[in-house]
This record gives sequence, structure tokens and C-alpha cells, in this order.
Amino acid sequence: MVEETVHDWERVDRLRALADGIGRCRRCPLSRHRTRAVAGEGPPDARMVLVGEAPGAREDRTGRPFVGPAGRFLDRLLAEQGFRRSDIFLTSCVKCRPPGNRTPRRQELTTCTSTWLLPQLRLIAPAVTVLCGRTAVAALVGGPFRLADHHGTFRRQGDMTYFITYHPAAAMRFAETATAMRADLALLAARMGR
Ligand code: SF4
Repeated sequence: MVEETVHDWERVDRLRALADGIGRCRRCPLSRHRTRAVAGEGPPDARMVLVGEAPGAREDRTGRPFVGPAGRFLDRLLAEQGFRRSDIFLTSCVKCRPPGNRTPRRQELTTCTSTWLLPQLRLIAPAVTVLCGRTAVAALVGGPFRLADHHGTFRRQGDMTYFITYHPAAAMRFAETATAMRADLALLAARMGR
């Protein structure tokens, strides 16, 4: 459920407290492998939150989300549709890099999502949360279902509105996926009045 009335200063304080907690978190085995946990960044009252799978190598080193090659590709795709990265809160399902960039395990996803991601989303209360890739969709909407059949669609879950698309790392590798992700983001831009 979305938080009732959260004043701006309170939202900033509570998001900061979550980020501090994430930085110290040892609730799942991924904490053993990380350099830095990546809480996410963006406006505390963003209309759009974008959720990826997990930090990669560069994110782990810098503590910032989507700053590696996939992040740069994402910036391009967003800019093409008139979105500004600085208007979006960017984060991921798990906040610590899995070793060797493996897919996060179910327990890691459940723990991190319930402890950190959902509280972040409730505080920010965005108009839409963009789920990038199968892992983000499974963590927040459930499944299983084929991304190929559901990308470019909205899902209402409780008070949250989710939009399903591909992960930029996949779009960067496969031209067909990039085309599909571009079309998804164009649809999203139209819905958000861009
Ligand atoms: S991945 Fe999430 S739950 Fe696991 S240690 Fe990192 S912040 Fe904590």
C-alpha cells in the first residue's frame, strides 16, 4: 500500500535512512561479495522509477545504479523518447552485485525486495514503476511468463502501476530486443505525456 501523506522532508529523510540501511545490510549472502551496495538514485518524488536486476561491476565499484555499458545504453534509449535520467529514480531488485553477475537467487530476491525495494517504492509512490527484464518482473509482479508476450504492457498490483520491458543489457546485445524496448519506451512516453 502507498504511504498516506508523506511530506517531502519526511520522504527525503526516510529514503536516506533506507539507503543507509542498505549500505550496512547483511541480510543475504550477496553482502559477502559486494564492494558497495547500490541503493539507487533519483528524485525522492520521481513520477517514474526504473528497476533493473542487480548491480554490475561498475555499479559495485561506484555505488551508483546503471553506470556501466548497459546503463549508458539505457540513457540513450530514454533520451530518444524525451525522458531525462535526472527525472527518474533508478534502482534494482537486489542492491548487491551477485558474484560473476549470476542471476539473484529466489531467497536473495525475496529478502532484498521486501526489505528495501518495496519500502523505497512506497515512499516514492511513482506514477509508474518500469520493470526491466525477467528478474524484475518475477520479483514484483510474479510469474512465470514470457517477457516476449508481455513486454510493453502495464500491470496494476495493489497501489502500484508497473510497466514491463526488457533489460537494457539484453537490448544492448540483441538488435531485435533493442527495437522492442524502443517501442515499449515510446509507448510509455506517450502514456506519460512526453
Ligand atoms: S542484496 Fe539486499 S538483502 Fe542482500 S545484503 Fe544486499 S542489500 Fe541486503
